Amino acid sequence: MFDFEKFVLLPLPFWLITFFIFGTIVGSFLNVCIYRIPRGESIIFPPSHCPNCKYHIPWYLNIPLFTWLFLKGKCANCGKPISIRYFIVEFLTGCMFMLSWLCVGGTSPILALIYSAIISALIVASYIDFEHYIIPDPLTLGGIIAGFILSFLFPILHQTTSQKISLQESAIGIITGAGLLYLISRIGKMAFGKYKYECPPGETIIFSETAIETKDGNLPYDEIFYRSSDKITTLAKSAKLTLIKDDKNINAQNVKIELTPLHLKLDNQIWETPEVKKLEITAKTLVLPREVMGLGDVKLMGAIGAFFGWKSIIFILFTSSLIGSLVGIFLILIGKNELSSRIPYGPYIAIGAILWMFGGYYYVVNWVNHMLRPLIQ
Ligand SMILES: [Zn+2]
Repeated sequence: MFDFEKFVLLPLPFWLITFFIFGTIVGSFLNVCIYRIPRGESIIFPPSHCPNCKYHIPWYLNIPLFTWLFLKGKCANCGKPISIRYFIVEFLTGCMFMLSWLCVGGTSPILALIYSAIISALIVASYIDFEHYIIPDPLTLGGIIAGFILSFLFPILHQTTSQKISLQESAIGIITGAGLLYLISRIGKMAFGKYKYECPPGETIIFSETAIETKDGNLPYDEIFYRSSDKITTLAKSAKLTLIKDDKNINAQNVKIELTPLHLKLDNQIWETPEVKKLEITAKTLVLPREVMGLGDVKLMGAIGAFFGWKSIIFILFTSSLIGSLVGIFLILIGKNELSSRIPYGPYIAIGAILWMFGGYYYVVNWVNHMLRPLIQ
């Protein structure tokens, strides 16, 4: 008979190496997910191929970490560079799986596996959020459902043996996580939902059909408008409007402009945005909308609450905003802080959640006990 209890007693290095190798294989699959999910492609078929020449990668070349090193980051067929992301994700996933075993494998092998699965989902969510500013629903809503079911099957997720308590913790976690983040996103939108762009003096700003064109570069509307209530406002010294239906220009001076995905207002005159071909203005500043936090982040936090309960939410909110601010300050210091219309928050939530799994829980519980002890005695 296969005795898992005895198997777990194998020396620690055996398990660490096993989990590392297992992690790199999973990481290789995560790379496929990161590339294909946002593009709406199937993650199962076709098998791994070069995105450039479609060369089907044979099994003996499809070995995590080694393949990338062996081929020096180039496709074996067409020689096009293959992003270092493939190597990083495989290595990172391997390390994270190993850490999962190191932290909880000794007490509960099943918990080590669940942690590994959660971290895999977080790695995919972070990369996609970073590149595309979205977190796909299968990861977030799927995570909420998976978290709830796994809390029922494995109450150890919530450090209890009672399925009833575990389900309760999970439900409260979902409500706290999603609810609190939704509240923060609303407040954030009010406080930081706008930013000013200083126009270079004397320069004409062009609103084309797809983007704002300035000397500093183009800013596509896709990156400005996330909801129909988002608007760009400015006080223009001069404005020249061209409509699609006739090529006659409408000129105005010292005019208040408001542009949304639905309409364009010049003082009190109003057009539907799709009617507008081009608007050229000179102005001192533009006021642009900024997306503080998307619904994807709200759902992601709900999923984390489902797995770890409400205490984790407080911890993750705190650590993720701390790390986020430090990174922000660092980017300003090295002069890389372009005013962007959106900041991906998903990766910071992921880092906070991983810190929680790898010890945050004990720190918080110890701290709470430490604070409460004098009050109880
Ligand atoms: Zn190729």
